[in-house]
This record gives sequence, structure tokens and C-alpha cells, in this order.
Amino acid sequence: MLSRRRSLGLLAAALTATPIARAAQERTARLKVVASFSILADLVRNVGGDRVAVDALVGPDGDAHVYEPSPADSRRVADAGLIVVNGLGFEGWLDRLVAAAAARAPVLVASAGVTPRADDEAAMRLDAAPDPHAWQSVANVKRYVANIRDALARIDPAGAGAYAAAAAAYLTRLDALDRAIKDAVAKIPSVRRRVITAHQAFGYFADAYGIAFVAPQDMSADAEPSARAVARVITQIRTQHIPAVFLENVVDPRLIAAIARETGARIGGTLYSDALTGPDGPAPTYVDLMRHNLRTLVAALAP
Ligand code: ZN
Repeated sequence: MLSRRRSLGLLAAALTATPIARAAQERTARLKVVASFSILADLVRNVGGDRVAVDALVGPDGDAHVYEPSPADSRRVADAGLIVVNGLGFEGWLDRLVAAAAARAPVLVASAGVTPRADDEAAMRLDAAPDPHAWQSVANVKRYVANIRDALARIDPAGAGAYAAAAAAYLTRLDALDRAIKDAVAKIPSVRRRVITAHQAFGYFADAYGIAFVAPQDMSADAEPSARAVARVITQIRTQHIPAVFLENVVDPRLIAAIARETGARIGGTLYSDALTGPDGPAPTYVDLMRHNLRTLVAALAP
């Protein structure tokens, strides 16, 4: 009787322990991916699904241009099975972080294969630094997604089928997004397709969709824009009848507010360039970010 009770107890222990052990094993079996910033992390999540555990170094509303990695970031990079970066000079701090952490994981440059455009400011200075904000064109992000799919499949061949299926479904959503942006911009009269933003993040969007973005200078860099640069923008707004100026989540809003006051241009709302918002904001995913920006632009530029 006693021995039977004990064996029942052991059986119960075994029954409760097994699912817990299995769950723990599944957790540790998930491929750890560290993405440099929130938008990339979202793309990896869409392709990797449950097979990956994704972490962003620069989280929602963060500015990756001027990021300073923490000791915790170093540990995350050291533990990663894959590191995903944008490239095109976006994460100037990353190489040092990867070296300092002695990370063994491969580093995927998600923008590989994208045709870079020259940074507008750099083009004027004749040093040909690329514009890093390639994700502002949906066609480019389709390339990012294909690169992420292929990298995940190389590292985790057992998941190749799952990654291919998830990527295909997501690429279909991106095609619909791309069409929606083109259709909406086509309805804005061409003379009104001009806006002012604080930092030059929308060059790829401008090239892909035909809205001109004018920025006084890269405001996420440490330097204040010169009075002369601001004056140039104010003149431009007046002479070209630019209808609206926009704020961004990673940029100090005071400059844009001052320009709007000076010129009477409308503040069209907030555009999201380099970072997602948290889950309660209007841009918790890449698709949400692009749809929010589109709605905001259309509302401000419609006659
Ligand atoms: Zn930027």
C-alpha cells in the first residue's frame, strides 16, 4: 500500500515534471536573435515566429544613430545565435560592441542587396556616405525579409520550411502595403507632395513613392542646425508653398515647432522614421509604422 502510494506519488511527480521540463527545453531551444533596432526586430519576429527569441538593442522610440551600448547589451550580443543589423553605416557603435563582447554569432547585414542612395547632406559635401534609412521603401524591406529568411534557415535548417512559409505570408502583406502607399500618394495633387521633416530619414520613401521630403539637417546628430540652414528651410517653405511640417519620435520637436510658427506651415503630426513605438503607440510594428505615416501624410497634404 505504502509502496503503491509512493509509486503513485512518483508518477504524479513525473507527470508534472515532464511538461515543465519540455517547456524549458523549448525555451532554450529557441534561436536567440539580437537585432540592432526595433524595426529589424519586428521583421525577424515575422519570419522567425515561435522558433526565435528576438531582442532589440535600441528599443521603441530609441535613436540608433547616437546609441551607447550598455554592459547588458554586451551580454545579449555574446549569447546570441544570430545578430541582425541594418548596415549602410546606420549602427556606427555595433562593430565595437560585437568585438568587445567577443560574439561568435554571425552578423547578418539585412540591407545586403539593396541599392543604396547617397545621403543628401553627404552628397553635397562630396563624401559618398550612403543613406542608411533603406527600410522606408517597402521594396527594400522585401529584400531585408528574404535575407533574414535565408540567414535563419542556414543557422536552423530544421526550421527552413517554417521560415519560408512565414516569409512568403509576410511578403504578401508587404506587397499590399506597397500598393496601398502608391494608391494613396497618387490621389494627392503633385504640387502638394512636399513636406518638411527634421532629419533626413525619408529619402528612400521619397524615391519610391514620390513625396519630396526636405530636412534642415540631421537633427539626431549632436549638432544643432545652423541658423542659416533653418533660414534656408523657412525660405523654401514660403517660396515652394510647402503645406506641412512633421515631427518625429526620435527627434527634438522644438525646431519643427519653431519653423511652423515662423512660416505658418501646418504641423502635420508625427512621422515614425527610425524606431517603432511601444505596444500602445500608433506604430508597434513595421506595417503599422508605414500605415500610420501614410495616413498622417495624406491627412496633411490632401487639399
Ligand atoms: Zn535616422
